[in-house]
Amino acid sequence: MDRNSLLRSLPKVDDILNNEHIKAIEGNINRALIIESIRKNLNVLREDILKTPDDMIQGYIIDFDKLIDGIIIQAAESARPHLKSVVNCTGVIIHTNLGRSVLCREAIEAVKNVAANYSNLEYDLENGKRGSRYSHIEYILKEITGAESAIVVNNNAAAVLLALSTLCKGKEAVVSRGELVEIGGAFRVPEVMEQSGAKLVEVGTTNRTHPYDYENAIGENTGALLKVHTSNYRILGFTESVGQRELVDIGRKYNVPVIEDIGSGNFIDFSKYNVAYEPSVQDAISSGIDILTFSGDKMLGGPQAGIIAGKAKYIDMMKKNPLTRAVRVDKMTIAALEATLKKYIDEKDAVSSIPTLRMITETEEHIKKRAMILLEKVKSCAKDKAEVCLIKEFSQIGGGAMPLENLPTYAVCVKPEYISANRLEENLRHNIVPVIARVKDDGVLLDVRTVNEDQYDIIGDAVRNGLSGGIS
Ligand SMILES: *Cc1c(COP(=O)(O)O)cnc(C)c1O
Repeated sequence: MDRNSLLRSLPKVDDILNNEHIKAIEGNINRALIIESIRKNLNVLREDILKTPDDMIQGYIIDFDKLIDGIIIQAAESARPHLKSVVNCTGVIIHTNLGRSVLCREAIEAVKNVAANYSNLEYDLENGKRGSRYSHIEYILKEITGAESAIVVNNNAAAVLLALSTLCKGKEAVVSRGELVEIGGAFRVPEVMEQSGAKLVEVGTTNRTHPYDYENAIGENTGALLKVHTSNYRILGFTESVGQRELVDIGRKYNVPVIEDIGSGNFIDFSKYNVAYEPSVQDAISSGIDILTFSGDKMLGGPQAGIIAGKAKYIDMMKKNPLTRAVRVDKMTIAALEATLKKYIDEKDAVSSIPTLRMITETEEHIKKRAMILLEKVKSCAKDKAEVCLIKEFSQIGGGAMPLENLPTYAVCVKPEYISANRLEENLRHNIVPVIARVKDDGVLLDVRTVNEDQYDIIGDAVRNGLSGGIS
């Protein structure tokens, strides 16, 4: 056939829609997506015919079955959500790129329930009047932290912004030079401060800040003393910083509120579980810090949120700040957060049922037991296409929390025989349920700490397909 006859012989969209295989998927995939896929695939074929050199055009054959397969694959792909679940084999527990914390079962149920129904989000059921969305969280935060009052906003960055904007707009906020942190994803203390309208007054040096440094900086226009937890780094060696209690004493003496951004707010003393001690929310509140801010989705293990807890007189001022409306939390966040916080009433319950806490506190022996099961699974899926073994590794808490803490773990190491480790890592990432792993030397590491038993089959299938080079 010559080129023009070939182009004319291409099937019409309507003909393809009548194909039995295409009709079969119409029940599952939106018709508009199928038509779009037909058009795209026909265009690709048309371009291919136009590109084919003159001397080859005579032998050109249109493979109709292949065309139909291509249309179905592409339509199915575009029907799948762009935001999807993945299996985290990185061993980084609070992985910001992978959505930080996985919610506990009760939080998931709570989200489903308020998403599917009307709720008393801002309705006072007692009096039949308008209520406050913050009331659903405030009571439980007060109970757990011992704070007088609390409010929840979109994230911790918004919490710091709101606190500074409320207490320090047009005034000075005094911060130690050792605490001018940058957290991944462009949260920089000096920049947040500028946005809030507060003027940054730096005191001390990178490694040493003394009480008198703060005292010397306090003047008529001081709005607050700000302490920032150095979440993602440590200054070691010849160092000195002013502790919570000392800073609170200075604040009291000069009648200036003390704000602390504690970063990853944890309610539990992790040193009980052989993990390094991190200052807890309760410690900060009991030391007298006036305003404390922290994230909901780091070591707390809840949804993305920024929690502000502290003195009622300052929180009340924040509730009236118009900025609060711009950074307010959604009902699904409130539902998930309330359910997560309720778990903390019983620490044992929290540690065993909040996934982030369970992963942080899981013992090496327990991980080894689970790793042996994944090892067998992966071995049977890899067959002779890879060497599979168990190795000792280290997991990380992530999310900028406890940067120096390495948690001993076990990882299944897959060394492919016929493809590179990088290729396997890429194929795992392209699995229908993407499996995110890391390459070390010539092996792909699957850290068991951040993986659930019910994901072992997915990992096995992904390894089998990945080693065959097939994308499924
Ligand atoms: C993580 C972190 C933030 C940012 O919190 P988000 O909830 O991601 O907005 C701010 N300050 C500190 C000290 C942090 O560790």
